[in-house]
Amino acid sequence: MQDQINNLPKLAKDRHKENKTFFTKLRKKPPKQLDYLMQDLHKEEFERTDCLDCANCCKTTGPLFTDKDIKRIAKFFKMKEQQFIEAYLRLDEDNDYVLQSVPCAFLGADNYCSIYEVRPKACREFPHTDRKKFQQISNLTLKNVVICPAAFNIVEEMKKRIQL
Ligand code: SF4
Ligand code: SF4
Repeated sequence: MQDQINNLPKLAKDRHKENKTFFTKLRKKPPKQLDYLMQDLHKEEFERTDCLDCANCCKTTGPLFTDKDIKRIAKFFKMKEQQFIEAYLRLDEDNDYVLQSVPCAFLGADNYCSIYEVRPKACREFPHTDRKKFQQISNLTLKNVVICPAAFNIVEEMKKRIQL
């Protein structure tokens, strides 16, 4: 898995133009069954890929924390929200709360998330490959294929299965 993760930036760069063209066409004419197809591709990929062997998203990017996330996680730690923010978060250039540093402070050496039950919504949904109207997040997906081997594989499979 680590070799795959190390090679991903180069592989994704090599496919970037092709992927961009594919998503431009997909946005113009998304297949009627796209939501169902994405559910299938996502499920198939995550039957093969175990995030516990990877954790590259937690090591290299980290999520945005919504107000609800902050409230829930602070409560989990029995901390005041402001205390939690000061300990772990910072505001980014878009005024969103993000991690002060990566790898994420809640990631264990065994790749387990120590706040898994209350983790941010963005962590639960990453890499968003089973969301509806997937064509609408193509710019985000083009970024995600650089860090997420599962997202990379799903996009490769999409190109094989969807004739545009
Ligand atoms: S979501 Fe992607 S980057 Fe994150 S751990 Fe799973 S395979 Fe790795
Ligand atoms: S909160 Fe958990 S799932 Fe989210 S980035 Fe940190 S370790 Fe990963």
